[in-house]
Amino acid sequence: TSSNSTPTIKQVKLEKECELRIEVSDSPLRLRLLNGNAEIFGTELPPEIWLNFPPRLKFAVFTWYGATIEMDGTPETGYTADETPMVSYVNVHAILEGRRDRAKKSPSDDSVLSQGPRVIVVGPSDSGKTTLSRMLLSWAAKQGWKPTFVDLDIGQGSITVPGCIAATPIEMPIDPVEGIPLEMPLVYFYGHTSPSNNVELYKVLVKELAGILERQFAGNAESRAAGMVLNTMGWIEGLGYDMLLHAIRTFKANVVLVLGQEKLCSLLRDVLKGEPKVDVVKLQRSGGVVSRPVKFRQRSRSNRIREYFYGLTNDLSPHSNISNFGDLFVYRVGGGPQAPRSALPIGAEPAADPTRVVAVNINRDLLHAVLAVSFAKEPDEIISSNVAGFIYVTDIDIQRKKITYLTPSAGELPSKYLILGTLTWLET
Ligand code: ADP
Ligand code: MG
Repeated sequence: TSSNSTPTIKQVKLEKECELRIEVSDSPLRLRLLNGNAEIFGTELPPEIWLNFPPRLKFAVFTWYGATIEMDGTPETGYTADETPMVSYVNVHAILEGRRDRAKKSPSDDSVLSQGPRVIVVGPSDSGKTTLSRMLLSWAAKQGWKPTFVDLDIGQGSITVPGCIAATPIEMPIDPVEGIPLEMPLVYFYGHTSPSNNVELYKVLVKELAGILERQFAGNAESRAAGMVLNTMGWIEGLGYDMLLHAIRTFKANVVLVLGQEKLCSLLRDVLKGEPKVDVVKLQRSGGVVSRPVKFRQRSRSNRIREYFYGLTNDLSPHSNISNFGDLFVYRVGGGPQAPRSALPIGAEPAADPTRVVAVNINRDLLHAVLAVSFAKEPDEIISSNVAGFIYVTDIDIQRKKITYLTPSAGELPSKYLILGTLTWLET
């Protein structure tokens, strides 16, 4: 082809309140702001600096007052849209700012008035929940707040590997490519990528995380005033709805943002009516939100795990370690599938406790598992402890009783207690 002679650099002029929606193809794309102002999901683009976007990333460059963008490469899709819900989103941000200011001015020993907004974003899959959470966090950070981001999505979370719920303070607008810095998040390991594996455990962990944050807020007026933004899963029916309601109440959310679902919005309004001041706000889903098929979701989960060990651009080198079976203690939570009542003696109750901690023998079943390294000091602290990080099992030698695994950095594991779920990874 004549690709050498055809310039791939193209200028796009964006009118005020318009956005350029891009799905990067299998080859990367570069883009820069030539003039005006523009942002990607709440984070402003620096002038004239080329930014590199990895394959398959989906995003929008939005401008409030007009901008010219230069793009190098051919995206899978790239079009300009003049209808976006951004004005309604930024109005929500303005209201939240007002509440933060009010909280900051209140006496810090008044635990109610000095509490900033606790916003939870809910809605079906692919309604733009994660994107809206990011915008609200980045806009707040730009104004000097340090809001806490809580990600309750165990499937497509953006703080750490899948299978976790986690929280981290956001101190700077979120980088559109790098995402949330993996510095020192507070992470609880659920161990599965589907909430239905162990609903009870999920709720217990949500409660643990909320409890810790509550204690941190009690001693930190600045983060209390900045408040939190909670991102949730797209499961909103049946048990999923129960879990949402449980999260709203456990975190004492006072603003519920419902994306693109009338029914969920009116259900939540009804049920939360009697409770101390919770605002349920319906927001429009952006036409730019892209649906991600199951395969795509699986691939992005796998990429998250790769990123944890190897870095976003293969810039990290994980360490391979070998331990004796006897030096590590592996546990799983929950008694596995419950015995059906019909299989039990008359009058007996099924014994499987969903939050029971069970010791696991190390064997070939652990090959390719991603395990969490718990901060627990005793096995019975495993559920109430957050985790230090993850290991990836690359070999099990039954004869020599040796286990080989990757860790993101060198040195001793911070603890010998490991948690096993159903999270696995195939290094490709
Ligand atoms: P949810 O969290 O509700 O499942 P996301 O916020 O993750 O939805 O959005 C789904 C996908 O759509 C993501 O890849 C996101 O980057 C992309 N996306 C969201 N808003 C836009 C937009 N305005 N233009 C282009 N892509 C978008
Ligand atoms: Mg999401």
